[in-house]
Order: sequence, then structure tokens, then C-alpha cells
Amino acid sequence: MFIARCPHCRSVDFRGVGLRNWLERMARVLLAPYRCSLCGRHFFLFRWAAPAEGTA
Ligand SMILES: [Zn+2]
Repeated sequence: MFIARCPHCRSVDFRGVGLRNWLERMARVLLAPYRCSLCGRHFFLFRWAAPAEGTA
């Protein structure tokens, strides 16, 4: 079973972040933006693999 993790440090402690520009709004159709609470890096997860926003 797939578990969403930070691609940089493998932490599962991350949360959804707001969209900063048009590119992210376009990407949001397929991808959801997150920021890792452990290493602080931003990354994207495919929407079907990402936890629901507000629950991560
Ligand atoms: Zn991380």
C-alpha cells in the first residue's frame, strides 16, 4: 500500500500549503502542494496519493 511521504527525508509529517502562482494553480488539477514539517522543503503529491487537506 502506498503511503505519502516527503521525497526528501521520508517524513510523513507534512501539511498542505497555499498556491503561490499560476503554475501551481495549473498543477493543482493533478498535484497538491505540501511542505514538509521536518525538513521544510516544498514538494507535490499526486492528488490521488495525497491525504485530504486539513487532515495531514
Ligand atoms: Zn522532508
